[in-house]
Amino acid sequence: MQVERTVCVRVRDGLHARPATQFVKLAKSFQSDIELVRDEQGVSAKSSVKLMLLGVKENDELVIRANGEDATVAMDALARFLETPDAGLDVGGSNEAKSPEAPVKPALQQQSVAAPGDPKGIPASEGAALGMVHPFFHENLVADRRQVPVDQIENEVLRYEAAVAQTVAALLEGRERVGLKPDDLQIIDALVDVAHDAELVDQVKGRIKNGEDAVHATTMAGEDLARSFEAMSDAYIRARAEDIRGVTRNIALTLLGRKDATLADVPDGAIIVAEEISAWDFAKAPIARIGGILCTTGSSTSHVAIMARTHGLPAVLGYNGSVEALRAAKSVAIDGGTGEVVLDPSENVTAAYRERIRKETEARAQLAAYAHVEPKTRDGQLIEVAANLGSLSEVDAALKAGAMGVGLFRTELLFMERKVLPSEDEQTAIYTELARAFAPRPVIVRTLDVGGDKPVAGIEFPEEENPFLGWRGVRMCLDQPEIFRPQLKALLRAAIVGNIKVMVPMIADISELRAVKALVEDCRSELRSQNVPFGEIDLGIMMETPAAALTADELATEADFFSIGTNDLTQYVMAADRLNPRLVKLNRADHPAVLKAVDLICQAAKKAGIWVGVCGEAAAREDLIPEFIRMGVTELSMSPASIARAKKRIIEL
Ligand code: PEP
Ligand code: MG
Repeated sequence: MQVERTVCVRVRDGLHARPATQFVKLAKSFQSDIELVRDEQGVSAKSSVKLMLLGVKENDELVIRANGEDATVAMDALARFLETPDAGLDVGGSNEAKSPEAPVKPALQQQSVAAPGDPKGIPASEGAALGMVHPFFHENLVADRRQVPVDQIENEVLRYEAAVAQTVAALLEGRERVGLKPDDLQIIDALVDVAHDAELVDQVKGRIKNGEDAVHATTMAGEDLARSFEAMSDAYIRARAEDIRGVTRNIALTLLGRKDATLADVPDGAIIVAEEISAWDFAKAPIARIGGILCTTGSSTSHVAIMARTHGLPAVLGYNGSVEALRAAKSVAIDGGTGEVVLDPSENVTAAYRERIRKETEARAQLAAYAHVEPKTRDGQLIEVAANLGSLSEVDAALKAGAMGVGLFRTELLFMERKVLPSEDEQTAIYTELARAFAPRPVIVRTLDVGGDKPVAGIEFPEEENPFLGWRGVRMCLDQPEIFRPQLKALLRAAIVGNIKVMVPMIADISELRAVKALVEDCRSELRSQNVPFGEIDLGIMMETPAAALTADELATEADFFSIGTNDLTQYVMAADRLNPRLVKLNRADHPAVLKAVDLICQAAKKAGIWVGVCGEAAAREDLIPEFIRMGVTELSMSPASIARAKKRIIEL
């Protein structure tokens, strides 16, 4: 039986990654042949690759054609799907795995064991570590074409099919891991879908039948398809190019009997050695098993450094030795407090490090006694010592470390490296869980702070010469209300818990603050008209641009609070890229120019009667804490691992 129907697509944002995968799954559950036609171009509804390349948008007209015994039932189900705005966009609550508490590594004066002139790195998260190397380098896959003799072609196709099956089995095995979020599961399903996709399989087999070897055929067909995805106008669909490359790369590596390094199988206590670890790789790694981190890129304000400090993991970044030597090393000693690195340490060095680690453990135990003290100076002034967090998985560590609230919740991780933007409901669930964990203590959530240097699926960033001076943070958010509004609405909804405050990054001009306020007001009206309950929020500013510091007087009259982001304030005041290992000498938050800017901000806050905090990494510096308090700072927010030491410093003042 053949049936045909024209439908208007109501799926929000069209058939991008998630809805397309769900739609294909539904189509595959019927035996009938099903075709979707738009503008006279027809594709099989059972191939997500073809479906996505059709680029179906919300409000497009499509013809569905079904031919087979169950054609009528299939037609009804598929039409219903296309006419449902939320189809395939099911929201899952957050069930992030809680990571166990990580130890704090206090700073001790260390005697260097490395020879002068030996390669070293930037101290990024203090503490000494000694352990096996766990290399985390991506395999270099060079697919040279090999001509397959005609009589072996059939065998080559079988080899390809076996590699697909093995890749899919490995993906499905990964799906069984505990602690995966609904979003992770959807990503895995989408990858499995790509591996089996008829379009990809046909192209690879076509190439093999023309005499190409399976590795070359897989890599080239994957690259061709990935480029077709990259040429699409929809940013969601373009992001799928990465899936195609990832899956075909895995199939090719399987054919070669190799596989990419992963952080999932880090042996207990091993030190991860890499050129770069993204915040996302790190967030998914078994953190309790990691002994330390050594990378050839990055610096102390890179996000991987910040995350390492959160978990008390020693880290040395921006290592200036050769990558080859790192790859060849079997074991390594690193000191995250000094940047010292010793590859394959001798017995003497090993003994010195064991002693260093023993002393640090002892000092840490002593410091733990300060985690829950009330941080009052001798003259009775209470300073709030709060935590900087990037995900719900860090909440337990922060509470145990003595955090008196959250002074900075970086929301970037929720957005980074996802296939689609988190919905308003998803965000509401996450912010609510965070607020509840600390209630009634304050939780300050920073609105999305990304730019062209950190791609986010679903946000189109232009190529920029200077992404740190570019279209980022509040600048991007104000231009993209479809991204900003769901976040603001989610924060207002979570504010029902009663302790949420919101702060806006990268403010350089008062008009930006006014525009955010107007948008918040608009979000309130919308929630009211939708009968969705919401609470009240304080709206503060991150003070991190020189322009904000110089106009702090004016900003203070319209902001509820200031939080000084010394990482960026330093980079912008000193005109020194915070990630450039060569500029470490200029990247000093204790530079008189930076301290002058902090002082200006504090004076303006005092005059206007608002409070001021510091949430950059300098907030944890024992030498700067007295300076900040003297200037009028009443809140310090830092990596949980630094909280006990900061409290000790405060009560001694
Ligand atoms: C800062 O700039 O000081 C800050 C706290 O924010 P981030 O490090 O995320 O830029
Ligand atoms: Mg910043």
